[in-house]
Amino acid sequence: MKDKQISIGLVVALDYHNPFLSPFDEFQRFKHHPSIKPLLEGGTVLQYGARTLNEGGFQSIPYPIFPGGAIIGCSAGFLNVPKIKGTHTAMKSGMLAAEAAFNVLLEGAKMEVYWNSLQNSWIWKELRKARNYRPAFKYGLIPGLAFSALEHYFLRGKLPLTLKHGKPDHEATETASSHTQIQYPKSDGVISFDVPTSLYRSNTNHEHDQPAHLRLRDPAIPELVNLPKYAGPESRYCPAGVYEYVPDEKHGLKLHINAQNCLHCKACDIKDPTQNIEWTVPEGGGGPGYTIM
Ligand SMILES: Cc1cc2nc3c(=O)[nH]c(=O)nc-3n(C[C@H](O)[C@H](O)[C@H](O)COP(=O)(O)OP(=O)(O)OC[C@H]3O[C@@H](n4cnc5c(N)ncnc54)[C@H](O)[C@@H]3O)c2cc1C
Ligand code: SF4
Repeated sequence: MKDKQISIGLVVALDYHNPFLSPFDEFQRFKHHPSIKPLLEGGTVLQYGARTLNEGGFQSIPYPIFPGGAIIGCSAGFLNVPKIKGTHTAMKSGMLAAEAAFNVLLEGAKMEVYWNSLQNSWIWKELRKARNYRPAFKYGLIPGLAFSALEHYFLRGKLPLTLKHGKPDHEATETASSHTQIQYPKSDGVISFDVPTSLYRSNTNHEHDQPAHLRLRDPAIPELVNLPKYAGPESRYCPAGVYEYVPDEKHGLKLHINAQNCLHCKACDIKDPTQNIEWTVPEGGGGPGYTIM
């Protein structure tokens, strides 16, 4: 019999409020759900990874041309959010940009042709149709689900208005004092795992002596704001355990950044409450080495 191969993932919307929530631990807990556990038993975990979804969609598409280049794929927000699919739009937008660039080189045409062909392509129609699903969830889970059903079965993108997104994800985090800590069960080492074991399966690797690619705009903010106000949420939303609060010489806690473990998911760049973390490109093509995804 062939080995069973299952790919399993958990999508966590980064506009969650509770600073104690840990997407990594939620995922491990999810694997123990009675409907999921039997699927995983007897299998072998081959790989682990993480990536944020670009959920802006139609109403967030930027003007995608700049001198010398064009924005394509998820960088321009071409993900179909309700379907969680974006490889088709990434490929198509790449093709449209390449065709426009070819004509710029061959005939001296203008790159603006890419913008026009995008608006006339099926990408535009598809994303327009899907535009109201995600913002509907700013009214809450139940209204969001109800609206999604209405969209899916009746409206099909024909609502004569475009819903606006709520506040940015980093502003959604509430203070620690308004929530209680979440106690997550310990991983069993069979179907659920700890961060170091999972990280090992991501094959992530960075040259150890390169400048840190995760930078703090103000190095004092973690101890002055993130820790006292939000109980250090970066130590939980990062799926790679990159951010750790460790004891300092004054018997307090200070932030330690294990940049070499970074999975390039970009959650910190998005979710840090004061937008103090800046993700920059590491040297030498370092990062996760997904071989089977
Ligand atoms: C959990 C999950 C499940 C998904 N499932 C599906 C699915 O089933 N079907 C589907 O169609 N889509 C799916 N998607 C969406 C799909 O992965 C994306 O829409 C698609 O990968 C977008 O392609 P892209 O080339 O635009 O971006 P990416 O695939 O993200 O590629 C961008 C690349 O650029 C690199 N990069 C970033 N910054 C720099 C820089 N400054 N310099 C150099 N390199 C850089 C990144 O490392 C990355 O390799 C899923 C996404 C997630 C997160
Ligand atoms: S450091 Fe940031 S980008 Fe890297 S894995 Fe953690 S949250 Fe993701």
